[in-house]
Amino acid sequence: KPAIVWFRDDLRLRDNPALHAACQTGVPVICLYIHEPTGEGRRPGGAALWWLHGSLAALDADLRARGGQLHVLAGAAGEVLKTAVDKIDAGAVYWNRRYDPAGRDIDTQIKADLRARGVDAHSFNGSLLSEPWTISSQSGEPYRVFGAFWRAFQQRTVEPPLPAPPACAFAPLPEEAAQHFSYPTGLEPDPQRPDWAVAMRADWTRGEAAGLACLQDFLDEDLAGYADNRDRLDARTTSRLSPYLHAGNVSARQLWHALSARQHRGMAAGDRDAEKFRLELGWREFSYSLLYHCPSLHERNLQPDFDAMPWRRGHEDLGAWKKGMTGYPVVDAAMRQLWATGWMHNRARMIVASFLVKHLLIDWREGERWFWETLVDADPANNPASWQWVAGSGADAAPYFRIFNPVTQGEKFDPDGTFVKRWLPELGRLAAPFIHRPWTASSTQLAAAGIHLGKTYPFPIVDHKIARERALAAWRSLRS
Ligand code: FAD
Repeated sequence: KPAIVWFRDDLRLRDNPALHAACQTGVPVICLYIHEPTGEGRRPGGAALWWLHGSLAALDADLRARGGQLHVLAGAAGEVLKTAVDKIDAGAVYWNRRYDPAGRDIDTQIKADLRARGVDAHSFNGSLLSEPWTISSQSGEPYRVFGAFWRAFQQRTVEPPLPAPPACAFAPLPEEAAQHFSYPTGLEPDPQRPDWAVAMRADWTRGEAAGLACLQDFLDEDLAGYADNRDRLDARTTSRLSPYLHAGNVSARQLWHALSARQHRGMAAGDRDAEKFRLELGWREFSYSLLYHCPSLHERNLQPDFDAMPWRRGHEDLGAWKKGMTGYPVVDAAMRQLWATGWMHNRARMIVASFLVKHLLIDWREGERWFWETLVDADPANNPASWQWVAGSGADAAPYFRIFNPVTQGEKFDPDGTFVKRWLPELGRLAAPFIHRPWTASSTQLAAAGIHLGKTYPFPIVDHKIARERALAAWRSLRS
């Protein structure tokens, strides 16, 4: 009997345990992806859908090169699988696990249903370095502090990645079965009118081959110096692998072991750089551990005392933040980069998130939702965990009273204003000393740079000192 491989956020051939196991059985293998436009759980945002579409197309092409094909079906996963299994008389279904609460519930139900009908269901870890339920404190509780989590994690061995699957007897979905499914809506090719993905296409190539090339580039060009440079906004200092990791175009295990291989060959990257990069992968594991143990991570404060936070309902301010029109250049440049390319540097994410939550005193969930809609790497674990971390409501979070000054952050991590000028062309002729605080330039200097504050670029929507005091007062009110 044929086997079904159900692809989800593991859109690759290499290091894909579910695909590998199915291929090893020698039976015909039919590859499916099920788009679930309605139903339980969070729907991917627009930018992540764009990434998903490209990744599915790339995976289909990769499978076709090996004599296979990816069938993209739509509907509630349980129903679609049930019909597919019946129509092709499948003997087994293989998939790699997901960890979002709704996805887990669906998978548990599907597994039980399949087994009740005599169909084997096999699930694997294709996404994480270590399963979230395997790391807990001596009392059996999940770790709430990253340092302790990381120490426990480091006691483990990370499984080596699998190669591309062995020769596989791929089979198409029989015509008779295919007729039961329609091509999914909500997963169209690239947008046309308006074509909001122009800059995204220029910035990114989606799919497994592009992910592996991105990894190779990072190892060759940017790993050396990563520990010292990774906070700089004005150059490419990080891997930009996050969307590939999110869609599973590459796996965390591949990254982990690619670093080890470099270190063993004594290549340019120092141990410190490799360790720092591993630590970041560790934060991803920690976020998934939080998601696993706290299913409503994107809805509820991990620290319940934050429920009483007197958030402002500042719709105009929220709009200015989203559009990159706050009057703080580093914030605005980052928000416009996000809108154009679907990605933002980690330091910039921290700056804009802090600005929203502390300077504007707007609920972190508003920002989380905007990131969810606009990030190509919008991730059910990393996004809410990081927002809660910045807001101070999360596990092991940055203390709320530590409030970034957007001017000094800009001056420190984009000293010449290169990043700001790239995304805010209206400030392009302003000299470096003023680029992060244009309102301090004289009217002559502004005029020489072609800037009319309030017209060509906004005045700051809040004063840093006043906003800081307001945020601290709000935070103190929680404690009294
Ligand atoms: P690199 O520095 O090259 O790191 C390599 C990988 O490690 C990343 O791809 C990512 O998977 C992981 N990583 C790095 N930093 C972190 C971190 N702080 N927390 C968890 N994992 C990390 N990351 C997402 O993948 N999706 C999100 O939706 C997301 N939302 C965020 C929201 C906020 C408010 C903040 C502050 C951070 C968010 N991050 C998110 C984490 C981090 O900013 C991105 O993973 C990183 O910027 C991606 O760029 P990179 O691949 O070049 O990172």
